[in-house]
Amino acid sequence: MASTAGKAADIEVDALVVGSGISGSCTAFHLLRNQKVSSLLLTETNPVVGGNVISKTDGEFIWEEGPNSFQPTATIMRTVYELGISDELVLADASLPRFVYWEGRGAGQKLANLHALPTNLPGDLFDFNLLTIPGKLRAAFGAVGFIAPPPPPPYEESIREFVTRHLGEETFERVIDPFVSGVYAGDPDQLAMRAALKKIHRLEGLGDFGPGLVSGAVSRFKELAKEKKENPSDPAWPTFRGGQLGSFKKGLQTLPNAVAKALGPDRVKTSWTLTALSRDGSGFLATFDTPDGPKVVRAKTVTVTAPTRVTSKVCSDLVPAAADLARIYSPPVASVTMAYRKEWFKELPGAQPGKPLVGFGHLLPRSMGVRSLGTIWTSSLFPGRTPEGWELLLTYIGGSRDKGIADMTEEEIVKQVDADNHKILLKDDAPMGKLLGCRVWRTAIPQYCRGHLDILDALEKDEAKVPGLFLGGNYRTGVAFGDCVQYGLDEASRMAAYLKSAA
Ligand SMILES: Cc1cc2nc3c(=O)[nH]c(=O)nc-3n(C[C@H](O)[C@H](O)[C@H](O)COP(=O)(O)OP(=O)(O)OC[C@H]3O[C@@H](n4cnc5c(N)ncnc54)[C@H](O)[C@@H]3O)c2cc1C
Repeated sequence: MASTAGKAADIEVDALVVGSGISGSCTAFHLLRNQKVSSLLLTETNPVVGGNVISKTDGEFIWEEGPNSFQPTATIMRTVYELGISDELVLADASLPRFVYWEGRGAGQKLANLHALPTNLPGDLFDFNLLTIPGKLRAAFGAVGFIAPPPPPPYEESIREFVTRHLGEETFERVIDPFVSGVYAGDPDQLAMRAALKKIHRLEGLGDFGPGLVSGAVSRFKELAKEKKENPSDPAWPTFRGGQLGSFKKGLQTLPNAVAKALGPDRVKTSWTLTALSRDGSGFLATFDTPDGPKVVRAKTVTVTAPTRVTSKVCSDLVPAAADLARIYSPPVASVTMAYRKEWFKELPGAQPGKPLVGFGHLLPRSMGVRSLGTIWTSSLFPGRTPEGWELLLTYIGGSRDKGIADMTEEEIVKQVDADNHKILLKDDAPMGKLLGCRVWRTAIPQYCRGHLDILDALEKDEAKVPGLFLGGNYRTGVAFGDCVQYGLDEASRMAAYLKSAA
């Protein structure tokens, strides 16, 4: 194990957090706020904090170039409250429909081929004709438990295999496939069910009335109610309802910016790139490239929340299994935000006078042959982000099944997205939209494919041999914004416990 004991340090802290994405920012904040660790440093290679959370404005429009929203959780609400940004929080109307675009092939007719997914069960099911009657029957029988048993371990079922076994091919193709594209930009044949959708995977066998997902969900609801009773939310935290999506008035970057403000300039170093990490007695020496030349930080405990390719390179001397993090694939994804005049939209389901868009957005099953993965109807979700007369759309394109996006020019990507928006939402003679932002993420979201949990198990074993060092982020405990906030809360408590035990 590399050791540079005795080397001079430019800064000495108790806790060092590398990476200021949601995982790192929340770790640093909860260390200070809830663990009372004030001797800490948050470092970031970019000139700004936030990682892949990037909110932009030109003074008229507000848009996102990374994630667009989060599913509220108690931990997010707690963090928002403790950061003092409750007034900035915006929660979208939970009743706004989520659409799947589907043409023909046995599905019923819907205006603009946009099928709203059922939100109020069972009522909405009567009007839900995205699935054929045999498709619905197959899903219903499977959901109540008439399914084949899972393949014996160590075989890992893919998302496609698990869902088709439970709910049938049609539900997979029309509902789950676009959902997987929307969340992971992933390939459901490669993603491992037990790793990528572990909460749903766990439902099989959790219930008292057979292996079906309905029985598992009933038991899960009971568990959740018990957990809520045992850990009630503080009444001071903002409240939310199931099905809502959250953001902030000026976009998601409000949260990491508020963390940087709470930590203060002395505890946050941007444009600092971690290049090496070594042991220093019972602590660590971290070397950074900075605008003022190389700097060395001595810390008693360190967490590295950088993406897998970085952690794999910088940490594998100390934690050999970290080398395998480089095997975790993150596909390219582009996010494109375009604005369109309200009068350019065709008639869409639920439209109201002056409001052509009423919904969360639409997902695009791969079999529909539309290249974009899905589009968030931003101005419907979060009003107040456009000047009068405009609507705002955020489209994601690329992913594991469309790696070619990485070889396209930005102009080509924007043209493709605009063409897809026209096909689905706009009148034939509508002009091209106004481009606000196009960002190509070369390595967007880590894919929890088959073998992912083996990589993490090996990492856990090697990491345990280096007390005080914690590796993590969205490849370890979930990719969703809320998973990363939870990671921050939990990691802060692990680091503080280590500091206490080592004192
Ligand atoms: C295009 C896109 C859309 C998404 N949409 C959603 C969504 O709508 N809802 C949702 O819940 N989730 C979404 N996600 C997922 C979610 O946003 C991410 O999983 C989450 O933000 C990751 O946070 P993180 O802190 O773990 O990682 P990151 O944000 O990647 O943070 C890691 C940080 O480490 C820094 N770093 C790298 N190398 C070094 C180094 N050598 N030294 C110092 N710092 C370094 C990076 O610059 C970065 O700031 C989306 C992700 C992408 C890319």
